[in-house]
Amino acid sequence: MVDAAHRLSAIRARIAKAGSVARRRAGEITLVAVAKGRTMDEIAPLIEAGQRDFGESRVQEALDKWPPVLARHPDLRLHGIGRLQSNKAVEAVRLFDVIHALDRRSLLDALIAASAREGRTPSVYVQVNIGDEPQKGGCTIADLEGLIADVRATELPLAGLMAIPPADAQPGPYFALLAKLARRHDVSGLSMGMSDDFETAIQLGATCVRVGSALFEER
Ligand SMILES: *Cc1c(COP(=O)(O)O)cnc(C)c1O
Repeated sequence: MVDAAHRLSAIRARIAKAGSVARRRAGEITLVAVAKGRTMDEIAPLIEAGQRDFGESRVQEALDKWPPVLARHPDLRLHGIGRLQSNKAVEAVRLFDVIHALDRRSLLDALIAASAREGRTPSVYVQVNIGDEPQKGGCTIADLEGLIADVRATELPLAGLMAIPPADAQPGPYFALLAKLARRHDVSGLSMGMSDDFETAIQLGATCVRVGSALFEER
């Protein structure tokens, strides 16, 4: 409990430091605590310590864990950060305030239909397959312009761009490339950076970092 609060304040301090080094405005960087694979017993101390943005990779796991907690804490924001199947769009729209993994037109269509049905309009990040890896989600750089235009034609607010750099490479050049794509397309938000590289991501313009393992006790 104390440990969770300490880990959270340590991560927040590192975010603030990286932000000030990069001359970013305070409060410009959102910390999403990635709770995938964690039990509510592990998560609750972070909520008590004031953390409000949480990320989940899988819709089913999020459905199993979060509804009672969200009922008690209506100010929490849940972020869907994992690959999303179109047939989960209704549940995703009901549950998530922000969706970080929009990477294709068919998923956008499913989210628009779900949004109309549920009366909720989650904001979306367009995910880019920044390292052009076959096993990863994300649209190609070539498809990005069209997908951004498609989102802008809908009611769903465009939060920005999201990417996960290749695991075996230095992340900096990939973060820089995502930032360049965001500038080119006049997009302000950048969801990039995880436990091992969030300071580099902030240096290169991240407005949202998704931190999991560094916030939780090792298992
Ligand atoms: C798991 C995950 C994270 C968090 O990763 P850590 O290395 O545990 O901080 C961030 N983003 C996505 C998309 C993830 O799946």
